[in-house]
Amino acid sequence: MALIVLVVWALGSSACHGPDEPVDREASKAAQTSQHSSPQPQIVAVDAVKMGTRFDIQVAHHDQAAAASAIDAAYEEIDRLEELLSEWREDSQISEVNRQAGQGPLSVGPELLEVVTRALELSQLTDGAFDITFATCGHLWSVGQQRIPSEQEIADCLPHIDYRNVVVDQEESTIELIGERTRIGIGAIGKGYGVDRAAQVLSDRGIDDFIVDGGGDLRASGQRFGRPWRAAIAHPRSPDEFLAVVELWDRSFVTSGDYERYFESDGVRYHHIIDPATARPARASIATTVIADDTTTADALSTAFFVLGPTEALAIAGDLPGVEVLLVTADMEVHQTPGMENYLIDDRRR
Ligand code: AMP
Ligand code: MG
Repeated sequence: MALIVLVVWALGSSACHGPDEPVDREASKAAQTSQHSSPQPQIVAVDAVKMGTRFDIQVAHHDQAAAASAIDAAYEEIDRLEELLSEWREDSQISEVNRQAGQGPLSVGPELLEVVTRALELSQLTDGAFDITFATCGHLWSVGQQRIPSEQEIADCLPHIDYRNVVVDQEESTIELIGERTRIGIGAIGKGYGVDRAAQVLSDRGIDDFIVDGGGDLRASGQRFGRPWRAAIAHPRSPDEFLAVVELWDRSFVTSGDYERYFESDGVRYHHIIDPATARPARASIATTVIADDTTTADALSTAFFVLGPTEALAIAGDLPGVEVLLVTADMEVHQTPGMENYLIDDRRR
């Protein structure tokens, strides 16, 4: 989950005009236009709690009824996926896979197969920094109960974290977890996948201009009154401030941060992003924001880059077309790929 605040001003790119211009005039004019008399687009926005976070879908469209019905369909798709993919539901497919650990392959539907396949590709790409088998030891920690595991618990569990213990058979549509202790959790990729699927539903219904924001996992498509959609990167240590604002056009944007879910004990912050190499909270970063072609990839990479820290994260992102990262370390140093500049704008207003 990410604490990014969606920004929906209809402001132009910094290349088009400076921050002092009264650039939202156009937007308010369009918003005031009657839906009956004009084909001008208007914003239809619906939010809802889904996948354990607040979703917000906004569509810019001239036909409000069509927009509202497309948003309903997008939320239905998220509900459907949640039933299949939630680790917290006993009857979900992913829970079945976990129960079947060490007992051979299990038939699964195309969605779980797709998410797990993509997760394994991203594990390879990030040398295991992204690893859905982190969940093998994930239960040792609890932010809610402020639980810190013993050294012994970690030592017992750590050898069982290994994404190579997840075997996917595309032909048979099965997933097998090798070793009865292996567990998988898709908390770092499932929401991004849900956002992508919701975005697909909107596109399939002829909606081109929208933003799907799943608690900060965000897909921006098309435009808002002729201008790019905007999103803000939260300041990891100052909730009232933004670190930066970006403009997005047909891109996905996801942030991972150690301020999202954490507790403190003896002055140490224990948070929800686990370094699979140590089975402990990762320390190389305090926040990462990734921009990518799709939200599934951006979600997984934001978590992986968080674990890897600046040197490796920037090296990997540099080799991936369309991927940009902005990363903050514990001493508040900001590192970013050169291409990130193309998205950042000077104006930090929401
Ligand atoms: P995110 O907020 O997208 O960075 O995802 C964090 C969530 O992903 C955590 O709450 C865990 O469920 C899961 N997770 C934590 N560490 C990892 C990791 N190294 N690889 C994959 N998933 C992880
Ligand atoms: Mg993630």
